[in-house]
Amino acid sequence: MTIQWFPGHMTRARRQIQEKLSLIDVVIELLDARLPLSSRNPMIDEILLNKPRLILLNKSDLADPAVTREWVDYFKREGHTAITADASTGQGVKDIPLKAKELIKEKIDRQISKGIRPRAVRALIVGIPNVGKSTLINRLAGRSIAATGDRPGVTKGQQWIKVGTEMELLDTPGILWPKFEDQNVGYRLAATGAIKEEILNVEDIAFFAIKYLCQYYWTQLQERFDLGERPEDLENPDGVVAVMEAIGRKRGCIVSGGRVDLEKASGIMLRELRAGKLGRFSMESPY
Ligand code: GDP
Repeated sequence: MTIQWFPGHMTRARRQIQEKLSLIDVVIELLDARLPLSSRNPMIDEILLNKPRLILLNKSDLADPAVTREWVDYFKREGHTAITADASTGQGVKDIPLKAKELIKEKIDRQISKGIRPRAVRALIVGIPNVGKSTLINRLAGRSIAATGDRPGVTKGQQWIKVGTEMELLDTPGILWPKFEDQNVGYRLAATGAIKEEILNVEDIAFFAIKYLCQYYWTQLQERFDLGERPEDLENPDGVVAVMEAIGRKRGCIVSGGRVDLEKASGIMLRELRAGKLGRFSMESPY
């Protein structure tokens, strides 16, 4: 289910997260490694106030590793700690408790110097829909806790999940809304499946994705769909449409008169892209 965000929802989501902040030591902010800024809530700093934060670039198995390294570096420059993970296989997940602990090291050291035995680090996972919050919670818990997918309005008693001896996690994640203002952000989110494609036109999403892939990941696109030459001028829409048509022909999307059904071709192309069939790629880079 895709959440439609209205001002009332945003206020409620923000309040729900802020109510939990007093219970926790650290926020784990999940971003999609392929599009860290586009999958980031625009008001995150205001919402989290100054709570220590671990940025987790999830779905890093789908992202371009070189670009992901740039993002980790980018967040470090911004004064954050960022790590990469793949919640679906668990890669990188075991580092989370230790990294979370490091963020509140001073507090822990103060407690130790006063003779207090520090308790486990308490954490809350936050992120936009589909970024992998439930998958990560289940992975950290080592069992199935949260139903994957979002069910707004469904409230249940909050519980702490023990993650080894080092960390405790709230079982319900904080759901944030993505950015809406910039249309390119919408296209990146739609192309990767973070928001439903009904919100935007499927051909427009595919056009956006193909143009981007032609520019930065041409070889992957070419090999997947057995394409000819890369269009010379990507600012000329005709060249990008010709690539879409070639993809459609390759996948048998032909209608009467031999025309290519671009809508069908777009849907197929996007499904393959989201399933990782075009290989690893990032949709935005920091530099
Ligand atoms: P939530 O809405 O934030 O709770 O997201 P979910 O946990 O429901 O995950 C959304 C989709 O992304 C599911 O199909 C997951 O299997 C998939 N997913 C989550 N994490 C990863 C990951 O690290 N890599 C890949 N490839 N898929 C992931």
